Amino acid sequence: MAADEETPFDRYRQRIDRPLVRLFREYGLERKRWLIVGLLANLVAQAASLLPPVVLGAAIDAVFGESDTAYQLPLVPTSLLPQQEVEQFWFSAILIAGAFLTTAVFTWIYGVVANFFAHGVMHNVRSDSFEKMIRLDAAFFDDKQTGEVMSILSNDASNLELFLDDALMNGVRLVVMVFGIAAILFLLNPQLAVVTLLGLPLMVAFTWWFMRVIEPRYEDRQSAVATFNTRIENGISGVELAKATSSEEYESGRVRDASRGVFESIMEVLKLAYFYRPGMELLAGLSFAITFVVGGYWLLADGFGPFTSELSVGVFITFVFMTQRFVSPLAEVSSIVDQVQNARVSASRVFGLYDIPVRIEDAEDAVPLDNPEGHVEYEDVSFAYPDFLARAEGEDERGKSPAADGGAVLESTGDEAEYVIEDVSVEAQPGETVAFVGSTGAGKSTLCRLLLRLYDLNEGAVRVDGTDVRDLELASLRTHVGYVSQDAFLFDGTIGDNIRYGRFDASMDDVRDAARAAEAHEFISELPDGYDTRVGERGVKLSGGQRQRIAIARVVLQDPAILVLDEATSDVDTDTEQRIQSSLDALTEDRTTFVVAHRLSTVVGADQIVVLEDGQVVERGAHEELVDSGGRYSELWGAQTGSV
Ligand code: ADP
Repeated sequence: MAADEETPFDRYRQRIDRPLVRLFREYGLERKRWLIVGLLANLVAQAASLLPPVVLGAAIDAVFGESDTAYQLPLVPTSLLPQQEVEQFWFSAILIAGAFLTTAVFTWIYGVVANFFAHGVMHNVRSDSFEKMIRLDAAFFDDKQTGEVMSILSNDASNLELFLDDALMNGVRLVVMVFGIAAILFLLNPQLAVVTLLGLPLMVAFTWWFMRVIEPRYEDRQSAVATFNTRIENGISGVELAKATSSEEYESGRVRDASRGVFESIMEVLKLAYFYRPGMELLAGLSFAITFVVGGYWLLADGFGPFTSELSVGVFITFVFMTQRFVSPLAEVSSIVDQVQNARVSASRVFGLYDIPVRIEDAEDAVPLDNPEGHVEYEDVSFAYPDFLARAEGEDERGKSPAADGGAVLESTGDEAEYVIEDVSVEAQPGETVAFVGSTGAGKSTLCRLLLRLYDLNEGAVRVDGTDVRDLELASLRTHVGYVSQDAFLFDGTIGDNIRYGRFDASMDDVRDAARAAEAHEFISELPDGYDTRVGERGVKLSGGQRQRIAIARVVLQDPAILVLDEATSDVDTDTEQRIQSSLDALTEDRTTFVVAHRLSTVVGADQIVVLEDGQVVERGAHEELVDSGGRYSELWGAQTGSV
């Protein structure tokens, strides 16, 4: 999907207020102990790392100098410090070693703790996003948001991890270093501190300029990467067409171009990025030079111009060392800012997903569907597929928070909703078989989905045993309505698992019986590991017909009171279909069944055939009646059997 195309997510994303605050509220608070330990350990590590140059300065003055200068450290009363030179020497040595050790130990602690914290949040975000996503209404998935959801689960979750780990910890280091160094320098010698810190605004300005110029290049790189990914994805999906039309070279060329685009945009970023660090070093060198010249001359001339207070060699050396300590933390500023911006965007994407309202869910006073008889009634049903974008917009106008609006009733998408089902009434008595027939796009599958309440109606009602499906507990409705759709999907796992899907506690014998009933046992037994053969993406590839038979076995095992077979045998050859048909006849005999079948021979025995055109019922009746009446059905029948 092109980067600038609006997705259904965007509306929800734009509403997220202060996404990073929400991130801490929803995920940080429950781990706040880790966060606090991480931040404190970081603080200690950074503070300790500032100690050695200060101690070195003190030691140079008191121990190695020729004059009798007292041993002093900023903020520490002299009475607490040793008086003898040898003691002062060992004391300094121990202090410096201790500082390095403390830095090392606490760096390790904050590294591990921060990672633990950040990866823990990432894990929760990943799992929660999936859990949220899978509960969203079927309508959400009509907009093919798979790519978006995938990128939330992978990219966005890891952006948040980087932010909580790197950016947060480097941010703390930056603050401690800049303020810590400034404080120490001012305590030691305010005048020289001003001179040394003159370089700091320059470094900040340089960093700010750098971020300004690199930002558009980052954006270019991101869109180049997005284009590249789209090309790759498209190229792989269309590989068959590319081969069939001998267009491999054309396709490779397109990918090569996109890849070159990525390469070039990365080079543009790197050209600048490699310029920044040396630039910072140069500015630090400038600070060093100024401090060295001013401080050195001050020492040499025993004060000059405004610099008349006392300056010792030790303090001078501390200053010179400190000028080098700004570079590393400041060099991280651009990546901190980058990570914070990425994290803001990623957090709004994550919370944007969380805030999409789920409309198809249990009503507050929903009742379970217990041992249904299987009476089904569609009464004056009208339905239009909901449009996520339009809905989000509608909520905007009413200024309603989407999260607060969990109502189960679906609003129509506009004044002129595009009805795909219009005023349809169908009634099935318990045990009856009703067939929906009609041309492609007439609305047959849609009617099936409405019985499962995959979507909510705009008008009318669908009732099971007299209760509106909107008043039933969803899980119980779906347990009692078995659904075999056109697309017989297999999950990654064994064939046994796939048949057991939804009834995970079924025994192997039950699974085998169900497979027999679906005419699937034979081919399954011939597979290398029988029922334990892996199928799905990494397993054995099965034909459409084989997959359909597994789907039928699944519904046999489910043993529901109501069956919905939407082109359940369309991919099966006529021979197999006949064999399945007898099992299906047994299966549907005492259950209410809705069938959609392209081959009309399979619906001949139905109690009632409902002929649909453009979402409306145009004819209904039993097979013989309809053939005799010479209407639309007899036309279809004639076309298929060649009898008219
Ligand atoms: P049939 O099963 O009779 O071929 P469908 O029920 O699949 O017909 O489709 C009826 C109409 O609804 C068609 O115009 C189709 O384009 C539209 N439609 C089907 N599925 C969706 C969907 N998920 N989102 C939007 N429109 C859809």
